[in-house]
Amino acid sequence: MKACLALFILQLSLSAAEKPNLIVIMTDDMGYADVGFNGCKDIPTPHIDSIAANGVKFTSGYVAYPVCGPSRAAFMTGRYGQRFGFERNPQYRTQDENMGLPFSEETIAKVLGKVGYHSGVIGKWHLGATRKHHPLNRGFQEFYGHLGGGHQYFPKELTIKDSYAAENESQSYRTWILRNHEPVAPRKYLTTEFSDEAVSFIERNSAKPFFLFLSYNAPHAPLQAPGEYLKRFPHIEKKQRKIYAAMVSAVDDGVGRVLKTLREKEIEKDTIVVFLSDNGGPTTKNGSNNAPLRGGKGDAWEGGWRVPFAMQWPGGLPKGKTYSHPVVSLDIMATIVALNKAPVAKECPLDGVNLVPFLTGKKKGPPHQGIFLRKFDSESTAVRSGERKLVTYDNKGYTGLFDLTEDISESKNIRDQTSKDVARLKSLWNDWNKSNIDPVFKGLIHTPAWQKKREQAARKKAEDDNK
Ligand code: CA
Repeated sequence: MKACLALFILQLSLSAAEKPNLIVIMTDDMGYADVGFNGCKDIPTPHIDSIAANGVKFTSGYVAYPVCGPSRAAFMTGRYGQRFGFERNPQYRTQDENMGLPFSEETIAKVLGKVGYHSGVIGKWHLGATRKHHPLNRGFQEFYGHLGGGHQYFPKELTIKDSYAAENESQSYRTWILRNHEPVAPRKYLTTEFSDEAVSFIERNSAKPFFLFLSYNAPHAPLQAPGEYLKRFPHIEKKQRKIYAAMVSAVDDGVGRVLKTLREKEIEKDTIVVFLSDNGGPTTKNGSNNAPLRGGKGDAWEGGWRVPFAMQWPGGLPKGKTYSHPVVSLDIMATIVALNKAPVAKECPLDGVNLVPFLTGKKKGPPHQGIFLRKFDSESTAVRSGERKLVTYDNKGYTGLFDLTEDISESKNIRDQTSKDVARLKSLWNDWNKSNIDPVFKGLIHTPAWQKKREQAARKKAEDDNK
């Protein structure tokens, strides 16, 4: 009897380990250097840091694009957005079904649904603002968030009840929050509201395998934070950095509550938690810091797409590990799909790699031959392979080769010393680019100048009002 029971428990724990829960916590526009585990000194992030301490810190963790929408589309599908024409930030268009994640693509939630996962998005969506693009129509069972690329943080600013009535970007920042398809008026600072929802999601779903995408819009502009968080930063003088710090601190509190809930529900061991930013910090816009990386959001330089990145899974990964081979956000889906042997549509092959055998030491060497970037509109490209990185800005006729071990800040162009490497990296990039297509929709940069000006003015007014 005892032996039977032991066998039953063993089987139970095996099946739990094979179907770990997945929580991906993604921040918005957070800098590489703005977490303690990457050396941040002025903003304490103890809870985010605990993910790295309990698991793995990636020093070369990339996203697949240096701005929000395409980075998220890539994470959400496990595929480079250039494969399916998602290479621009979508505009907020509630009637344009071409403006968002193409319906040919399967989301991570859709694939995990095939093996019994219950999935939810809390926070920012930004993968299309039509009803057809709504998360509940893209494989998720729960949604609590906003459809656009950013949002006002204080409930009093949210004056538009119907998300589908917002006509442009600045109006989309003022909609109520959608609970599934129902508009609701949040009562708290948005970051806190999303953390409350994350706790509730975990509590309600702890008995089944789940995937939670906790997609904080913080610390994306507009810079807004409650006094209780601002008070934590008397040592930061610069106003922009102070508000940014307060916003990051609110996220860190939320991460702490998520982790605490996992412990209370006794599912910490069987839950993979990933933390990352969707792109590098736009330093002048929100006071973020990417040092020592060059550049920031939007750039092919490291500061654009190398991000704070950590992962814990007490039941399956070592603790306190630093992993320096390059990895990419696409690996998250590849990992959970491999652990579940979940079937992926053959038209949508994944670009990522199952990281588990690399992190446990079963497999040696780098998971990727290269990690790739193409920015169609600025005609810039990048490829990271091993310690080498090639950057081109074709519109400026520029080619740069860097050794990131020696020169993490991309300050010494060694193109002329090692032409062999230039050729190798170019050839890798060309092979990758062969299965890419041109963008399928026009994006934010294609907004007419007059409209942009009006929206900028509205944003500035909202920020001034909140000062
Ligand atoms: Ca972003």
